[in-house]
Amino acid sequence: MALTDSTFKKLQNIVGNPYCSRKKEDLICYAYDATARTYLPDAVIFPKNSKEISGILHVANEDHFFVIPRGAGTGMTGGSLPVEGGVVVVMSRLNRILGIDKDNLIAHVEPGVITGRFHRAVEKEKLFYPPDPSSSDFSTLGGNLAECAGGPRAVKYGVTRDYVLGLEVVIPTGELIRTGVATAKGVVGYDLTRLIVGSEGTLGIITRITVKLLPLPETVRTMVAVFDDMETAAETVSEIIRRAMVPRTIEFMDNASIRCVERYLNIHLPVDAGALLLLEVDGKEKEVDELIDQLKTVCISRGANGTSIARKKEDIEKLWKARKAISPALFQYGPDKINEDIVVPRSRIPDMVRKIAALKEKTGLTMVSFGHAGDGNIHFNIMLDKKNQEELKKAEAAVDALFEYTLALGGTISGEHGVGITKAPYIAKEIGALELRLMKKIKKLFDPNGILNPGKIFPN
Ligand SMILES: Cc1cc2nc3c(=O)[nH]c(=O)nc-3n(C[C@H](O)[C@H](O)[C@H](O)COP(=O)(O)OP(=O)(O)OC[C@H]3O[C@@H](n4cnc5c(N)ncnc54)[C@H](O)[C@@H]3O)c2cc1C
Repeated sequence: MALTDSTFKKLQNIVGNPYCSRKKEDLICYAYDATARTYLPDAVIFPKNSKEISGILHVANEDHFFVIPRGAGTGMTGGSLPVEGGVVVVMSRLNRILGIDKDNLIAHVEPGVITGRFHRAVEKEKLFYPPDPSSSDFSTLGGNLAECAGGPRAVKYGVTRDYVLGLEVVIPTGELIRTGVATAKGVVGYDLTRLIVGSEGTLGIITRITVKLLPLPETVRTMVAVFDDMETAAETVSEIIRRAMVPRTIEFMDNASIRCVERYLNIHLPVDAGALLLLEVDGKEKEVDELIDQLKTVCISRGANGTSIARKKEDIEKLWKARKAISPALFQYGPDKINEDIVVPRSRIPDMVRKIAALKEKTGLTMVSFGHAGDGNIHFNIMLDKKNQEELKKAEAAVDALFEYTLALGGTISGEHGVGITKAPYIAKEIGALELRLMKKIKKLFDPNGILNPGKIFPN
């Protein structure tokens, strides 16, 4: 569906000429995300409020073009890509923190706010918004909600959906709805808030968000435990969970991640280690010290070679910089990446680690694993050159085997990156036919003309 001149004129009239473009150089900037796939949109538009977004969706229904919401384009499954063309709606101008309500421990915020900026704003008030995807320096809250982003702190604090109380959303018909509450709880009617969080921009465009906040933890302590091999590290994670210890993060890096981050940042990581765990604890000073001691004991008793505690802000920042740099650093291993985001029950992490080792051995491919071990969430990456057909075939077969095994262990094929386009071909492996039909009916109810973010979640 090409965009006609008269349709483009209507869009310009809604947002003003400077905020709507069909120039190739602008389109290219909004044609990609972290999947490194590219699809050129027909136009890109920068509305400033829900009224303008409603206007855009009304025109889309009248003139039949697709609309694709976009935050910062850091999505890992292609959610913001205009796979069938259309108009990319960039949320960057809806970027106000509308209010931090200290009396009620909630905040109202627009979706284009960068997550890290929001963290800093609430922390200034001694409050805490726990969801912290590793992309928090550049991803938006709207994108986080649409994907139900997780992140390292999910072990203790849960994921984005656990903090969203209410929403303002423009649904695909152009109508504006309000969902949820601005109170600590509320159960009136179906929970549309929870339906929209994680719906990957297919049911509506989020224009305002109400989240709950927590008190800022008094103390944070970060510990690194070094292991000879991944299996021992994985067994240790399972043991920590079995003992019902709750640090706020348990991240792991395998040897390939450690090496490539070290090459990228040169910050003296232990490059000969088979794996390392990054454990972080928060709370009151005394509790934190006690839990760190207990974690240290478990790590050593389960076979860690050593542990070290970072106390200085610079040292803690250095460790997190290393962890957050893995994704971009991986491209040292190959021009293309197949990136999966599986989750297994936490007692089964060692089984999954063994499976990955076996796949690596069998295929001879470069595989790198890291991620949120405390949630059983493994970011499994195959680095390759997709032009090499033999490598690609082997990699695809390895992904199939990995998904089969994940589901056999009682896991899920996507912990936090969504389905988008990259996992759409696999959704029926996990979701039953009846449930899938119900989901498609919900989509149809919200979006009778199928104009919002087509080609996502459900395979064509
Ligand atoms: C280096 C790196 C590290 C990452 N680490 C993590 C991690 O630890 N945990 C994690 O969960 N993810 C992680 N991600 C993935 C990604 O950052 C998250 O999915 C993030 O939530 C996407 O936000 P975004 O603003 O970039 O959204 P985009 O990529 O622009 O969009 C993502 C989806 O949200 C939809 N969308 C965007 N804004 C709106 C809106 N206002 N209303 C409705 N739909 C909307 C889009 O249509 C799309 O479907 C990482 C990515 C990178 C590159």
